[in-house]
Amino acid sequence: EPILKVDNVKLTIDGKAILKGVNLEVNRGEIHAILGPNGAGKSTLAKLIMGIDDLKSPTEGEIIFDGKVINGLEVYERAKLGITLAWQEPARFEGVTVEEYLKLSARNNPDVDIRKCLEEVGLVPEVYLKRFVDDSLSGGERKRVELASILAFKPKFVVLDEIDSGIDFTSIEDIQKILETMKEEGITVLMITHNEKLLDVADRASLLCGGKVLETSDPQSIKRKFEECKVCDVLDFEQKG
Ligand code: ADP
Ligand code: MG
Ligand code: MG
Repeated sequence: EPILKVDNVKLTIDGKAILKGVNLEVNRGEIHAILGPNGAGKSTLAKLIMGIDDLKSPTEGEIIFDGKVINGLEVYERAKLGITLAWQEPARFEGVTVEEYLKLSARNNPDVDIRKCLEEVGLVPEVYLKRFVDDSLSGGERKRVELASILAFKPKFVVLDEIDSGIDFTSIEDIQKILETMKEEGITVLMITHNEKLLDVADRASLLCGGKVLETSDPQSIKRKFEECKVCDVLDFEQKG
């Protein structure tokens, strides 16, 4: 049984059909990539899975996590089930130190060593534990802290929406390693990305285009499909204006 099943999910916002019958299965323990043009609905699907931005229920269809329909559940209820998300633009928490943030993330995992979580994401604990999770950290540092918090939280399932955006090449190699660590920890990863290096560590991928998943297969064939997809070209063009 897949850990996540998106079953014929349609979403209409203000009369505009954004998702038009998405079918997607994510297997337990895999790293599953989602590719698709700008405006295809990738982030919207991610938000529906997390239940954020008032996107708690699709207009039609079901989202099934771990055998349970999660349509309508609140974010914290989904978090309790083991679902979490990392942002394209990571969160800021004024007045909260990295140490407090990671301890909070690890509150249900007494065996977790938060210093080790920081090391896993390439941050020296002595340097970062007392820093604040706010604008005094660079975007890249906040992204790493957020990934450390996921390692500390140990969710069953994490959605990563374009975490590679605005990240330099060497950091991409770090993210590759972090993804592999997540997989070793048994965390299932759904990541929205077009990055070659991150696709290298994916087990499978799906192409989301025109509000539907056109195909699920190995990452390299999906990448080729994406590059050849005429529908995708048109959509990307329309979005760019
Ligand atoms: P992607 O992440 O694939 O680039 P998005 O999921 O961000 O695409 O957006 C998909 C489409 O839905 C876009 O056309 C976008 O303008 C539209 N959209 C997203 N959120 C809303 C909203 N809250 N209200 C109206 N339209 C939205
Ligand atoms: Mg986009
Ligand atoms: Mg997006």
